[in-house]
Amino acid sequence: MLKYISTRGQAPRLSFADTTLAGLASDGGLYVPEFCPKIEPGEIGNMGNQHYLEIAWRVILPYVAEDLASEELFALLKASYKNFDVKEIAPLKQLEDNLYVLELFHGPTLAFKDIALQFLGQVFDHFLRLREERVTIIGATSGDTGSAAIEAFRGKDNVNIFIFHPHKRVSDVQRKQMTTVTDPNVFNVAIEGSFDDCQDLVKAMFNDATFRADMQLSAINSINWARILAQVVYYIYAGAKVRHATDKPVSFCVPTGNFGNVYAGYVAQSMGLPVEKLLVATNRNDILHRFFVSGRMKMEGVTPTISPSMDIQISSNFERLLFDLFGRMPKAVEQTMAHFRKAGPFHLDDSVMTGVRKLFGSGRLDDNQTIEVIRRTHEKYGYVVDPHTAVGLGVAQAWLADNPKTPVISLATAHPAKFPEAVKRAIGVEPELPERLADLHTRPEKYDVLPNDLAKVQDFVRRSLKGAA
Ligand SMILES: *Cc1c(COP(=O)(O)O)cnc(C)c1O
Repeated sequence: MLKYISTRGQAPRLSFADTTLAGLASDGGLYVPEFCPKIEPGEIGNMGNQHYLEIAWRVILPYVAEDLASEELFALLKASYKNFDVKEIAPLKQLEDNLYVLELFHGPTLAFKDIALQFLGQVFDHFLRLREERVTIIGATSGDTGSAAIEAFRGKDNVNIFIFHPHKRVSDVQRKQMTTVTDPNVFNVAIEGSFDDCQDLVKAMFNDATFRADMQLSAINSINWARILAQVVYYIYAGAKVRHATDKPVSFCVPTGNFGNVYAGYVAQSMGLPVEKLLVATNRNDILHRFFVSGRMKMEGVTPTISPSMDIQISSNFERLLFDLFGRMPKAVEQTMAHFRKAGPFHLDDSVMTGVRKLFGSGRLDDNQTIEVIRRTHEKYGYVVDPHTAVGLGVAQAWLADNPKTPVISLATAHPAKFPEAVKRAIGVEPELPERLADLHTRPEKYDVLPNDLAKVQDFVRRSLKGAA
């Protein structure tokens, strides 16, 4: 049976269920599967006509078989994607001979995080029920993750969820997607401070051992293995479809922040999907692009951009790739990460980087270039993209200009209506919200505003849970 091990080697080896509920490993590392299940090329060749759910079932089962029966997994997958507004779940659109867009934003909150979090919500609920346990999820958000997490856990009996966002510093659409959810297990809190303050409060609550145990705190951040697993599916799904039409290997272009999404592409490739390149697309916060060019990982400050979900300083999921690059030696990972946190930049040898560059390429766009891609894409194809998707498309097109032979699938990570200001700036009109969200702006909101004060926030969580029990 496949088990999970930590990239830092000091945490216990766990089953899928325990890995999912644990989130981060107890040694500070990230859980990865002990080995990579394979899918034969012939079988991938036959997936071109299969439905998304069937492919998800096939891809995920070997990773979860210890804890979920085959039919149980299928039921969870069906429930995960029942609220998507297109039956394909992730439609693939062709813009040019060799350029495709994979639309990952048809879930309840209009961003690709729904694909992973809806699955995580179902899996959490299933395992907590079996164990007759309850948890309290707490998380900080700068916008997208919070609403996707709330949609995934609303109404779940065994979970209460608290999401902290910076007061008056998220967009109207983003705030309302969170605060108009009125289920009694959902608590929205606006903190009088920045996103970093919200994150510090969440970290401090986790570090308070008594509070953590009393409240049974749990995290669902982007390092959770179950989220990655759900994302592996759409690489194989889209890759199989394009190969079905062209019989060539494919490349993917991925607008990237925490490296979670593109790491899922790496897993798909490791499982047997013929991938030529994984292109890592960043905005001005380009730590990853600089790394793929130079081999040097160096932190810099975060600059706000019009693609805010990619405004990050450290790409936490990168540690999973590092583990493989170091021949799966946890000591080397631990030393490198400790050095990175304390002393600063690390550098990988040319011999390692040569291997890395065989599979990974990269590019970056600043805000003006991003606006220009939105404008050009609309003009040329009559297709409207959000700024995150545009960063990916810009890098994909630059790549195709030099490497025209291999089809590129560029991932569309958010619906344009989620970022109306940037889209309007580019094409002069505001994109419309899909019908089921059309009344978002008139729905009543419910949230509390709290000062940036740990004791007051903890007190709020305690009192709210008493009320909810
Ligand atoms: C979170 C997010 C990203 C970045 O995804 P990572 O997995 O962190 O690389 C890109 N685009 C959108 C719209 C997002 O919400």
